[in-house]
This record gives sequence, C-alpha cells and structure tokens, in this order.
Amino acid sequence: LQTHSLSLSLQAKMSRPVQAQRLAGIDKNIWVEFVKLAATYSTVNLGQGFPDFPPPDFLKEAFVRALSGEDHMLHQYTRAFGHPPLVKILAQFFGKLLGRDLDPMTDVMVTVGAYQALFYCFQAFVDEGDEVIIIEPFFDCYEPMVKMAGGTPVFVPLRPKAPKDGKLMSSADWQLDPAELASKFSKRTKAIVLNSPNNPLGKVFSRGELELIADLCVKHDILCISDEVYEWLVYDGKEHVRIASLQGMWDRTVIIGSAGKTFSATGWKVGWTVGPNRLLQHLRTMHQNSVYHCATAAQEAVAQGFQRELEHYRKPDSYFVQLAKELQQKRDWLVQSLDAVGMKPIVPEGTYFLVADISEFKSDVPDVPDSDEPYDSRFAKWMVKNKGLAAIPLSAFYCASHKNNYNHFIRFCFAKEEATLRAANDILQKWKREKTSP
Ligand code: PMP
Repeated sequence: LQTHSLSLSLQAKMSRPVQAQRLAGIDKNIWVEFVKLAATYSTVNLGQGFPDFPPPDFLKEAFVRALSGEDHMLHQYTRAFGHPPLVKILAQFFGKLLGRDLDPMTDVMVTVGAYQALFYCFQAFVDEGDEVIIIEPFFDCYEPMVKMAGGTPVFVPLRPKAPKDGKLMSSADWQLDPAELASKFSKRTKAIVLNSPNNPLGKVFSRGELELIADLCVKHDILCISDEVYEWLVYDGKEHVRIASLQGMWDRTVIIGSAGKTFSATGWKVGWTVGPNRLLQHLRTMHQNSVYHCATAAQEAVAQGFQRELEHYRKPDSYFVQLAKELQQKRDWLVQSLDAVGMKPIVPEGTYFLVADISEFKSDVPDVPDSDEPYDSRFAKWMVKNKGLAAIPLSAFYCASHKNNYNHFIRFCFAKEEATLRAANDILQKWKREKTSP
C-alpha cells in the first residue's frame, strides 16, 4: 500500500504545460516591475496613476454611512448589473451629458473599475481574427486584452509636430495622420479603442479629430470602445467631447468611466459602461458569467457622490470643477519644475499625467547599443534607484515594434499633494546643480 501511495504522489506532480495559449507573450508586465521599483527605492513616487490626497469628504462620509447605517442590506448582494441607486443616477447624469434618455436598467452597467469594463468589451465583441485599432501611445492593458480575446491589435501612432519657436510642446501637438488612420481600417476591423483624455499624453481629442474617427467608424461599420475615465480632468477651458454624441455613434459606442478617477478613489474599483442596450446586453452576459457584481457599499457611496454632483453641476463648488482647477495648478507647478531643469515637458490638456523629454539628461545614463530594453526604461530605473524619483517610461505605452521610436520620454503623475510635488522639484533642482557644477 505504501509503495502504491508513494508512486501516486510522484505521479501527482504535474509535468504537462499548464499555461493556456492565450497567455503566451503577455506574462511580462511593466507595472509589476515599476510598482516594485517605486516601493523599494522611491522617496517621491510620480509613477503609477493615483492621487496621494484623499477623496472628498462627502464621498468618504457616504461610504461610512453605507457601512454603519441601518440598512444592513448594503452588506449583501445587490442587483448584478449595478446597484439600483447607482445605475439610476448614472443614467440621469450621463443622460444630461449626452442629451438623450437613458434606461438605467439597460443602458448602464456597473463594473469592477474601468479595467473590467474594458476586459468585457474585448471579450464580448472581439472574435478570433478580428482586428482592433489602438491609437498610440495607449493605456497598456488594451493590447493584452485584445490578444486574450483572440483578436489582433492594429496600432496607429499619434505623430508629434514641433511646437512654434520658443513654445513648450503641448499634447495637442500629437496628432493622427488622417491618411494613416484611414489605412488601418479593413474588412477585418471590429472596433477602435479611443481614450480621450489620453493616458499617458494627456491629449484631449478635438471635435474635429473625433469627427474624423467617427466618420471612419460609420463608413466601416465598426464599434468604438471609448475609455473616458479622465473625462472631468480637462484644463484651460478645453471641452471634453463625447464621441457617442456625434452623428451615427451612439449605436456603436460603449463609454467607459471610473469612480476611481472621477472621485480620486482608485482603490474602490467602481467603474461603469454606458451605451445602447444592443451592445450592453453582451457585457451583461460577461458580467453574469464572471464577477456578478461590484461591492454594494462602494456602489451606494458612489451613487450618493453623483447625486451630490448632479445638484452642484457646473457650479463652482462642484467637486468635478474643483478637482480640475486644483490639478491644473499642480500641472503648472510640475511643468515649471521640469522646464526649469531642461527636462522638457509636453503640456497636457487633460488627465493627471505629464510626459517629459529626457534627452538633456542622457549623459547621466549612457546608451547601451543593441540593448533589448528601450532607453527610457533604463533611464526610469536608473532615476528611481539613484535619485529616488519614480516615473514610467513612455515606451511602455507602445507596441513592441514601435517602442524604440519613442524612447526618450518619461511619464509623471501629478495628482499629488503640494509637498510631494515640492519634493520632486527639490530632487530635480539638486540633480541639475550636480550636472552643471564641475
Ligand atoms: N483606463 C485608463 C486610460 C486608465 O488610465 C485606467 C487606470 N490607470 C483605467 C482605465 C482603469 O481604471 P480603474 O482603476 O477604474 O479600473
């Protein structure tokens, strides 16, 4: 008997490959590496995108009420496709923004952050062999998500134009080449992913640029997955145009949003999708058969947050208005800090990210010819280890074959307390002094 169980336990050790094919090539992830580096070495972390300041009091208080109030049902399951108070207020709020009546039960669905909404879209709409157009630089998870669904990502870069003499470059200087964009659409194209305001550049696509994309979507009869998580973070009086509001687009667009970005509470992981029932019904199929729903109390609190914002819509004490104002100030500080030391910033029109040119700092981190690792990635690692300042290399937001065309920029997150931004400024100033002193 003993020999038998010994041989069984030997047999029990698996030797067959365990990894599903769909994971091939997507197991390495920049965030795992850079989040760890920042945790180990950084004194100032402007890397990953999250605020180091608290969410607004009215939101925190709503969560506390949800947890400690009389309604103990807020600790239990709620409606799978979204807690009723949240889908109702989202339908009302987005109905107002889009100028159309939304049915909270069919045109809105709550997800575990915008991440999950994105994952559902690719799984629900993309078949083996379908192509999905992704505009570079892009929030990096789009590519593996398309691949996991069996689709093929097709990349089209925003092309930088030199700014006018003496002016800082703006994210608006990064534009699509209309002919190049049009050339990416084919019979195999199923969808395009749009992210405006864009992470990492902070570009806010203009109405004209969105019309160009919309016309191609209609002409080729394709879907638009519109990641609008930074919709409230738009500066200098710029307008966030919702592509779903353009001619022919409502019927083919899924809008994706995030309470994490909207209310500075990224850890809550409440996100949503807004779109026509004919699209959302398939996202509901995904949701029903995977996660079922997102934490009830967090949804209740976000519902109350939106209720409060609806009452203060566009008024000076609206959180959305105030947050953008505060972030614009933070953006300007970081722009000034970087410009003063010669790490040329690309001034973002939106989001809480800023991309800067590291060319003038290259002498500190020598090039390694024929290295597989893009230069900006080595630079960002060197910077966190030697200067204690964490940022993310821009090449992380490009596909493998384009990474080396954009390898002399790094991305900073400026959703940080004034003290954090001051500490970043001190590091940069000291670095500059060390460079210039003999
Ligand atoms: N889309 C973009 C463009 C993002 O930057 C992020 C977060 N960094 C997400 C989606 C994911 O949002 P959430 O935290 O709500 O899942």
